[in-house]
Amino acid sequence: MPVYAYGAYASDKPLQSMEITRRSPGPHDVQIDIAYCGICHSDLHQVRAEWAGTQFPCVPGHEIVGRVASVGAHVTGFQLGDLVGVGCIVDSCQQCEDCNSGLENYCDDMVGTYNFPTADAPGWTLGGYAQQIVVHERYVLRVRHPGAQLAAVAPLLCAGITTYSPLKHWNAGPGTKVGVVGIGGLGHMGIKLAHAMGAHVVAFTTSEAKRQAALALGADEVVVSRNTDEMAKHAKRFDLIINTVAAPHDLDAFLVLLKRDGAMVLVGAPATPHPSPGVFNLITQRRTLAGSMIGGIAETQEMLDFCAEHGIVADIELIRADEINTAYERMLKGDVQYRFVIDNATLTD
Ligand code: NAP
Ligand code: ZN
Repeated sequence: MPVYAYGAYASDKPLQSMEITRRSPGPHDVQIDIAYCGICHSDLHQVRAEWAGTQFPCVPGHEIVGRVASVGAHVTGFQLGDLVGVGCIVDSCQQCEDCNSGLENYCDDMVGTYNFPTADAPGWTLGGYAQQIVVHERYVLRVRHPGAQLAAVAPLLCAGITTYSPLKHWNAGPGTKVGVVGIGGLGHMGIKLAHAMGAHVVAFTTSEAKRQAALALGADEVVVSRNTDEMAKHAKRFDLIINTVAAPHDLDAFLVLLKRDGAMVLVGAPATPHPSPGVFNLITQRRTLAGSMIGGIAETQEMLDFCAEHGIVADIELIRADEINTAYERMLKGDVQYRFVIDNATLTD
């Protein structure tokens, strides 16, 4: 089945319109007309080959929402016309301890929505900057938000779950103080979710211009992290810090803000490593430096339902497909409020 998509033929080439092929739906597959797809910073890392192993042509996109166009004969959970989402995972081994625990995101054979090996042409997965996608029903999520909010739901499928999962795992909630570092796509969702969970939320930004906006997103306090006096006032105060920054930086500046037994969780995935943090900032207060990757399918559904219940969506800028390259440039400058979302109806030849 040929469909229009937007992708790149090489790491130094801009993204452009292209035709790709989707498999015919199998018995357990859901065929989805993609209405909108969010632009994650991971898309940029991958398509520009900042991470190893990018296959070209590369069609990014793992914040997918749309409607079911058809279902295979054995699909039980979805019907024609249902509002659905697909996040970062389209397959996994379905039998290991991780898959059996609902943590497909940690399965060694997890198949990501783009750039992972697959039997489908061209041999690696192609993502959501496309008119349609075909996905096994196990990896399809139900969207319970009103249809009018669909575009703003798209970023929940990656930015939402990537911040929700560590907030839950490290018990963010009433009585806890949570920091969110980097107010981009992930960070703005982290603020909204931690606030909805009842935590006291402090936003850390490098951008003075985002101070007011971070309060409007639900932060109780905002710290401009370049200001050392402001940072010093928060020493040893935090139970948890979620660090979303997409570039290498000094982790010690944030580690010292953790209480005894506090944890900083890295979710940002820069192309080059952070400078190694000072051991004494960890051992003297039994602090933890951890990492977390997206979330499992069941937890992604839990997050979507939590957001529907609390009226949470992303703050987005809706763009046409031919604005994707400009959006990437703006994202690199931190100039996005707070997620670009593609209107997939604008994908044509
Ligand atoms: P984004 O929208 O571009 O936001 C990143 C934010 O980091 C920026 O808005 C900026 O916020 C801050 N920042 C500070 N210094 C920066 C610098 N030198 N370069 C870039 N950003 C800087 O990105 P995103 O989509 O939220 O993704 C953030 C990172 O998480 C990326 O590395 C992405 O690949 C990764 N990621 C990881 C997972 C996972 O499973 N762990 C999932 C999705 C994405 P301020 O202006 O507020 O400082
Ligand atoms: Zn992502």
